[in-house]
Amino acid sequence: MTPTAPDAWSRRAVMLGAAALPLAARSAQAAADFMGAGQGRFFRFTLGAFEVTQLLAGVETLKNPHALFAADLEDEAFTTLTKAAHLPTGRARSFLIPTLVNTGKALVLIDTGRDPVGVVGALEAAGYLIEDIDIVALTHMHADHIGGLMGPNGPTFPNARIICGKMEYDAWDEAGDEAFDTNMLPLAAKIEVLSDGGDVVPGITAMEAFGHTLGHMVYRVENDGQTLLVAGDALAHHVFSFAHYEIAMAEDEDGPRAVKTRTELLKMLAETGVVLAGYHLPWPGLGFVAQSESGFTYVPHSYQLSWEEAPDEEPR
Ligand SMILES: [Zn+2]
Repeated sequence: MTPTAPDAWSRRAVMLGAAALPLAARSAQAAADFMGAGQGRFFRFTLGAFEVTQLLAGVETLKNPHALFAADLEDEAFTTLTKAAHLPTGRARSFLIPTLVNTGKALVLIDTGRDPVGVVGALEAAGYLIEDIDIVALTHMHADHIGGLMGPNGPTFPNARIICGKMEYDAWDEAGDEAFDTNMLPLAAKIEVLSDGGDVVPGITAMEAFGHTLGHMVYRVENDGQTLLVAGDALAHHVFSFAHYEIAMAEDEDGPRAVKTRTELLKMLAETGVVLAGYHLPWPGLGFVAQSESGFTYVPHSYQLSWEEAPDEEPR
């Protein structure tokens, strides 16, 4: 076979393609509007008899991922790792992804985004009303997780009880913080605290995962032998938190404790194959963990969670 230069090949393909199209079709193609980037705002799957919906409450751009996620890494190692993942070195994208669990008896929202607009828009796109939420469970009390609780007209979820870790609540209550004072204090009468092993509802269990904040919690969702770990900010970046789990993030309040927590969670996820929901991971924030020679690797969800009934016959 004679090698053909790529530009000659593509020029010929374009000419052949254009010649094959009727005139009207060609002009219709030229008139189509550019639509801009786009994506859906929810992703739903089943976990046993539970339904789990990932909600896209926001997308943010972060500057200086080197300082944020991997400060202890030499420049060259950081650049090599980043380029290998086809990511820019000067900025990172952070998704805000609350997880909604319908157990059949209760509708539980885990974390709420930075403001009510983001989370309510995603909830409505997924077919729910704010009145439907029975419980809001929180991983921790940074503004990008509790900011959706309160709006200018009061509580965003009028019928919801709020559940959070006892140590997390006490730490922020003592320290004082604008996001805490705005979003948590007005809801004090609706707040219930729990500790390691406490159930939000049957099938959703809190586990202590301290370090990112002093009382950070993760939630284990389990039904009919299937398990999901809602990890909050224990695993915040799909490359650095896995390949260099031993490096604390700039935002980790207790760095050594955060690294210990991250290491334990990664080992558990790699050994068990439990599904991971990561609040800031690339949309829809779902994946698995694989152990690699030097650390861990994030395996993004592809179609493991979206099986439908198999057809009787193989598709042709
Ligand atoms: Zn966060």
